Amino acid sequence: MSTPPNPSKTAGHSAAKTAAEKSVATVAMGWLHTAKFLTTAPQLHFLPELNVPEIAFVGRSNAGKSTCINTLTQQKQLAFASKKPGRTQHINLFSLGKQGIMDAVLTDLPGYGYAAVPKQDKIRWQQVMANYLVSRENLMGIVLMCDPRHGMTELDEILLEVIRPRVEEGLKFLIVLTKSDKLTRAEATKVLSITKLQAGGGDVMLFSAPKRQGIEEVAQLLYQWAHPEGKKALPANAIAITEIEEEVPPEFPEN
Ligand code: GDP
Repeated sequence: MSTPPNPSKTAGHSAAKTAAEKSVATVAMGWLHTAKFLTTAPQLHFLPELNVPEIAFVGRSNAGKSTCINTLTQQKQLAFASKKPGRTQHINLFSLGKQGIMDAVLTDLPGYGYAAVPKQDKIRWQQVMANYLVSRENLMGIVLMCDPRHGMTELDEILLEVIRPRVEEGLKFLIVLTKSDKLTRAEATKVLSITKLQAGGGDVMLFSAPKRQGIEEVAQLLYQWAHPEGKKALPANAIAITEIEEEVPPEFPEN
């Protein structure tokens, strides 16, 4: 009697595994593609309280955050909505969820460190951001964009310090090294290992919009954050997506 082949050693199995992995990536990309503008606010206390997981994107101005959000959501203009007059220093929320049922939120926190911004505005914005990162109750993950040619800057380090207590309590954390197409393979390997040491237990991934590197990996990680233990989306308390009206006029200068 012949022994049945060990499935883990057959070519068929590895092909099937690849297909399974691909299907997870497809689900994650489909989920991110549902992103829609939800609301914008100048400060934490103007944001609606939400009972779905929220994932915040942060980073220095020009780090590639808008491009990364647009690439992940496969929408050309979504994050550039955050650069419209009246929203550049706002917290911008995008809903996610299939069939019009919101099961998570992406938050775009405007970039910091832009040299041309007056000092008072910088300080005010850092306070708004710190307040959001420390106090937003449904915040479950943070994605920090970093241009690997500049590495982690002082402001990035401060941000890490601010969120450290929450990361220790289980907040998810990912550093995305953007524009990796600008690096040689050796540079990419080096910056990846250095950043892993700085990430304090968080994940680190290389990302390039034009080379389409890291897109599915980041998408899958965010999907897993929002849907832990392979649980289906749609929590019992899921709410229907409608754009929330802007009640609060912008209070602060935009530049
Ligand atoms: P933000 O200020 O962090 O939102 O940055 P943007 O997304 O506006 O990008 C800043 C600049 O970097 C723009 O000129 C983008 O075209 C460029 N950029 C963003 N992502 C990439 C990337 O993956 N590769 C390359 N080569 N350039 C990028």
